[in-house]
Order: sequence, then structure tokens, then C-alpha cells
Amino acid sequence: MDTEIIRIFEENIDAGLIKKAGDIIKQGGLVAFPTETVYGLGGDALNPDSSRKIYAAKGRPSDNPLIVHISKWEDIDLIVANVPEAARKLAKAFWPGPLTMIMKKSDAVPGETTGGLDTVAVRMPVHKTALAFIEAAGGYVAAPSANISGRPSPTSAKYVIEDMKDRIDMIIDGGDAGIGLESTIVDLSGERPMILRPGFITKEMLEEELGLVDTDPTIFAGDSKEPPKAPGMKYKHYAPKGMLTIVNGPEEEVVEYINVKLKEASFSGKKTGVIATDETADRYEADSIKTVGSRQDESMIAHRLYTILREFDDEGIEIMYSECFDTGGLGQAIMNRLLKAAGHQLINI
Ligand code: AMP
Ligand code: MG
Repeated sequence: MDTEIIRIFEENIDAGLIKKAGDIIKQGGLVAFPTETVYGLGGDALNPDSSRKIYAAKGRPSDNPLIVHISKWEDIDLIVANVPEAARKLAKAFWPGPLTMIMKKSDAVPGETTGGLDTVAVRMPVHKTALAFIEAAGGYVAAPSANISGRPSPTSAKYVIEDMKDRIDMIIDGGDAGIGLESTIVDLSGERPMILRPGFITKEMLEEELGLVDTDPTIFAGDSKEPPKAPGMKYKHYAPKGMLTIVNGPEEEVVEYINVKLKEASFSGKKTGVIATDETADRYEADSIKTVGSRQDESMIAHRLYTILREFDDEGIEIMYSECFDTGGLGQAIMNRLLKAAGHQLINI
């Protein structure tokens, strides 16, 4: 299949191109599009064939449900059986934005879209191109991240093209994704709200609206016997091709430890890389040293992380070490993704 690649600027959205993209979805095709979190791989959420095509294009297991993207609040009524009060509050505070809410689904949503579950995940993105595209597509776009299953989520069109060219009908290039990590997922279908995936909207922010919010305990446990509540969190995910280890401890000792390990790896002929911070970058010796920015600037760390993992892949880096980051606020999402990328290999010194 030939993939058409178009460029749409958020500041100046071309109505003709948006219509063309929307029509592809209405006809059962697939279009990758930019959002503020990462790029999405969109299909008609109400068409079971479209959802099947999404799983096939990504190589994604079909028990891993898709997030349904909407462009206006009223549209939620068709796909959610009973909109809880908590959802209204959160929508008021955080929609449009990087928050996904899980609720009981209506009959309008096919089981193919929800991986057979009786709940549906819904998000309203804030990215203007995404909103215009969803509207033009009929209002309900099922979209997981636009990467081949198991690879880091794409934060720019370049990486979508790398993974999805010739597998889907169209790619909308909208430049870099601002946030760079996937949305926060909160489950509102149970007794108490529960975070299934941490993201830019933090636990503290949710608790300000709803009171106590639980966090799925399997999120940070590498060896949990329990399956995670978001089916997708159980799969190897966000993974670079090489081997990544995270090192936690006092700054000086971390730098020293990583340098020793890098030297060993390079003696045995391996190509090495480090995920460093502005504070430490010039103290490392490796084939490739990448900084996530200042340790203090968590938004920048989130923004840079997946790009760095992809760059290491492009450079053929085989052994990688990363510093560890704080786990409060946005740090929770950063460490969740980093730990998954490292297959939970964390060394405490
Ligand atoms: P992605 O779209 O690639 O960011 O992945 C979507 C994530 O949302 C996966 O981890 C899914 O397992 C999760 N998800 C989607 N729908 C549901 C649902 N109804 N219940 C629990 N998790 C869900
Ligand atoms: Mg994904």
C-alpha cells in the first residue's frame, strides 16, 4: 500500500487536507496523526474492520484495547453507557488534554475496539490538527500510538514514517509532539478512580478534583504476579533494540559506576550509549552521550526520552546506561516508561 504523507500546520490548518484525511477514516482506512502526547494511528472506532486493521498494522495483540478519541464533550454519550460524575469533573479540568478516562462502554462500540472488554477508554486531545481530523473523520477515532508494537512511541513524523510507511493510507506530519509521553489513563469504571498509566496529568492533579485516587500497584513492579489492569501495560513496550540499565544513587557514584561499565562494554567490542543530564553529560565516556536536559526540567525529560531511545537504535547502540530520575509528579510517568524500556533492570548503588 502506498502511504500518502501530508504536512499540516497546527497554526494554519488546511481544510481540504483535513477533509481528505477524514474521508479515509470514514471509508475504513488508517491515518496517523499528531497529538500533544505522541503520534496516533487512527481508524474508525465504530467500525470493527478498522480496529482489526490497526492491530495488523502495528503487529499489536488484539486483546490490547484502543483509546477512542473524540473532539467534543457531547460525543461521549454515544460511546459511554453511563457517564459518571467523576468524568464530568475531570473533563472540565483536563479536557481537551493528555488524559484518558475508562468507563463502561455502550453497544455502539464494537468489542474489536475494546479488546473484548465491556469498558472503553476515551480521550479528547488538545492538539488542533487532531481535533479537526477527528471531527472530519466522523467524531470517533480509535488510535493507539503509531509505532510498531514494542517500539518507543513516535514523537515526530519521521518515526511514524519509519514504522508505518506502506502499512497505512496516510501520515499527517504535524512536527514534534509537545509532551512526548502517552496520556495518563484513569479508570473510572470501578469503586475508586485508579491510575492505570501515569502521564502528564499527575496523581496530585487528579486528586485535587476527585479526592483519593489509587494507582495500579503493578505499574512499578517488574516482577508482579498480578497482570496490570491496562492490558497494554503487560507487554514489553517502549523498548530500544539494545540493552538498557538504569543506575540509581548519589550523582558522583552513579557517574563513576556507569563509566566503569561503559569501559567494560566497549572493551568487549560493544557500541555504548548514556542517557545523561546537562549536569553530568561531560563526565561520561561513551560512543553516544545524550542529555535529556536539566534534571530539574521534567517536561524536557519527558519530551526527549523516546527520541533518545530511537536515536540510539538508529546509531546501533548495543549497551546503554541511564541515570535515574525523581518519581514525584511527572517523574512518575518518566520513570514508568524508562523502567519498561530497561525491562526493569535497575541498579541501586
Ligand atoms: P496506546 O494507545 O498505545 O497508548 O495504548 C493504549 C493503552 O490503553 C493500553 O495500555 C491499553 O491496554 C489501555 N486501555 C485501552 N482501553 C482500555 C480499557 N478499556 N481498560 C483498560 N485499559 C485500557
Ligand atoms: Mg502504545
